Amino acid sequence: MVDPDQPDPRIGAALDHIRNRIAHAARESGRDPAGVTLVAVSKTHPASAVAAALAFGQIVFGENRVQEAQGKFPELRTARSGRGEPGPLLHLIGPLQTNKVADAVQLADVIETLDRPRLADAIEAAAQKAGRMPELLIQVNIGEEPQKAGIAPDQADHFIEACHRRFGDALTGLMAIPPADIDPAPFFRRLVAMADRHGLARRSMGMSGDFEQAIAMGATSVRIGTAIFGGRPAPASTASPDTMPAGSGSRLASLPD
Ligand SMILES: *Cc1c(COP(=O)(O)O)cnc(C)c1O
Repeated sequence: MVDPDQPDPRIGAALDHIRNRIAHAARESGRDPAGVTLVAVSKTHPASAVAAALAFGQIVFGENRVQEAQGKFPELRTARSGRGEPGPLLHLIGPLQTNKVADAVQLADVIETLDRPRLADAIEAAAQKAGRMPELLIQVNIGEEPQKAGIAPDQADHFIEACHRRFGDALTGLMAIPPADIDPAPFFRRLVAMADRHGLARRSMGMSGDFEQAIAMGATSVRIGTAIFGGRPAPASTASPDTMPAGSGSRLASLPD
């Protein structure tokens, strides 16, 4: 049994395991493991899971819904800063609606999903109003999939240049989610080439199933959820973390080595 007053030790063990795999993948390709940021994707998981990961030294988190993040992060930040502890830092990694931008700009340290001119307009206006500009990554629909967010690759160069002029140093990189079920390598390569072309240092690519390959190809951020926090309900579900199916966290116990 997990003691509810103690941070879930399975999250600590999973984090250790992932950190080791990240370091190994980096060294295998002659890279410094410090050049790869682990973004722990806590979407659908309760604030207690984020608190547990924080207790095990994880500072950077990813969420895909502004409202869900608002329910977890401000309180954790207040508690941590009250104890003089850093973080949590928040990356927003989900499709962003313009009506959520004001909140996103207040809350996020990094917005990874800038993908259209209207969103750039909204971010610029909101940042001006808030007196605060998060770091920005442009999401590229690298596999040209109609159901996925991201700027189309054939419009990306133009959009990146426009955002660079507009946001200056706040624009730091590119993000992509390659198509599922096929070799992601060509897509990772394509994203890295695009980032190189524009002198953008951050490459956010790689998830639980493919992060080692992403690191080999030049990822500087990997976004990992399932392999740290366990399974999630199906994406279409509106279930809150409190109504997650029993045992959904138990997959942590059966992580592959
Ligand atoms: C959910 C999500 C992830 C994490 O996926 P896992 O397979 O659970 O590691 C990474 N990136 C984005 C954009 C996501 O929405």
